[in-house]
Amino acid sequence: MQNIVIIGNGIAGVTVARHIRKNSNDRIIIISAETDHFFSRTALMYVYMGHMKFEHIKPYEDWFWKKNRIELVRGYVSEIRPKEKELLIEDARIIKFNKLVLATGSKPNKFGWPGQDLFGVQGLYSKQDLDLLEVNAPNKEVCKRAVIVGGGLIGIELAEMLRSRNIAVTFLVREQNFWDGVLPEGEAKMINEHILDHHIDLRLATNLVEIIGSENGRVKAVKTDKGDIIDCDFVGLTAGVTPNITFLNNSGLDLGKGIKVNKYLETNLEDIYAIGDCAEQLEPEENRRAVEAVWYTGRMMGETLAQTLCGNKTAYKPGNWFNSAKFLDIEYQTYGWVNSLRNRKEYELHFHWRHLTEKICITLAYHHSTKKFLGINTFGIRMRHKVFDRWLNEERDLEYVVSHLRDANFDPEFYRQYEPEIIAKFNSELNAQISLKKKQWNRIF
Ligand SMILES: Cc1cc2nc3c(=O)[nH]c(=O)nc-3n(C[C@H](O)[C@H](O)[C@H](O)COP(=O)(O)OP(=O)(O)OC[C@H]3O[C@@H](n4cnc5c(N)ncnc54)[C@H](O)[C@@H]3O)c2cc1C
Repeated sequence: MQNIVIIGNGIAGVTVARHIRKNSNDRIIIISAETDHFFSRTALMYVYMGHMKFEHIKPYEDWFWKKNRIELVRGYVSEIRPKEKELLIEDARIIKFNKLVLATGSKPNKFGWPGQDLFGVQGLYSKQDLDLLEVNAPNKEVCKRAVIVGGGLIGIELAEMLRSRNIAVTFLVREQNFWDGVLPEGEAKMINEHILDHHIDLRLATNLVEIIGSENGRVKAVKTDKGDIIDCDFVGLTAGVTPNITFLNNSGLDLGKGIKVNKYLETNLEDIYAIGDCAEQLEPEENRRAVEAVWYTGRMMGETLAQTLCGNKTAYKPGNWFNSAKFLDIEYQTYGWVNSLRNRKEYELHFHWRHLTEKICITLAYHHSTKKFLGINTFGIRMRHKVFDRWLNEERDLEYVVSHLRDANFDPEFYRQYEPEIIAKFNSELNAQISLKKKQWNRIF
């Protein structure tokens, strides 16, 4: 029996532990500095908004771990000693391992802004951040205005959270449109409108220059690169995340942005592995990022590594890209690749449909010459993951996908209202393309 030690009790760490237990009797220890038990990080917002209690976002009952012989240790690992096969916890406890899994996640970015460490300035990542938010922004009397810096998924969640308590919010977004490094323009613009509809003071193409403090060390205002001074009682820093690996600096591990791993999730040091947000793949699959800070990646890496640790050496194969999120009350799903203007491939064309009055839209990406379906983004319509995964694997073309969209829809009743419009727009764009081609042919001959 070997000692498998996992640092981090997030989705990556607990998934590898659960799957090892399914296949082996090895001793499993999970260490975490954050909480005693695993919780769903993506649901933290609902606790602040009062939809759930913290207890409700723990996917397993507290007895689950003991029953499955998964030992939980609370503490911060300050050092790993690969040669001695041991690690040191801050309170001087030493834990021995045969195999070590690093699943240490991310931390919010701070870019050295003046005033970033003032009281009332924080990120949103951990349970501790949630507790701090209750102190910094419990209500609109204590926090008259909040400024959020960074227009990504966590930024918009924080805006929604604060608005749920009627706190005035100014949202500084560096890009021309919300999240337009990821979303195509039509979608990004629709989300801009939606943010404004929720009475959030959205400032596009605007950067933070400085956070200004009062004499007692609390934030009192921010200064932007447009020269504006915005008075505020709270600043949320949500300008992305970076792998949480600083404590590994002198460990001998090969570190880049994250902990470098091969396709078996092995680091450069024997018997040490890395998974989830903290892992940086040396050879990511085509189109995939080396560091993927998303929930599903952590889960899939955990499942894969458990196979290897139980004697069935398995390479990490992420399959087709997919993800989902919420922009205020609009559900967003993405399957395959639909790139933003900035990242669009030279062969990639888009078919975009948006409802005339409601905030509902879809964008399909396809190859301009083969018409192969490359991916879809949906807003306000829920689609079935399995169906798109199959169509991507079967390399279906655009026409097939559009004419079968109803098979992928979660709610056929709902879709029935929009299908004629989508098909009509598709046909009119197709006809426009055909007549354009005819004109080009006429010119040639
Ligand atoms: C507010 C929010 C909303 C999100 N929404 C989405 C979403 O809608 N969709 C999506 O795909 N992703 C979302 N994400 C990202 C997703 O939650 C992460 O990708 C995922 O949780 C990472 O899992 P992980 O197991 O790799 O790491 P983590 O969940 O970060 O877990 C790592 C754990 O390791 C602990 N740790 C680190 N270093 C040490 C140490 N030295 N000693 C002891 N313990 C240590 C940390 O304290 C932490 O508890 C969201 C993230 C946040 C913060």
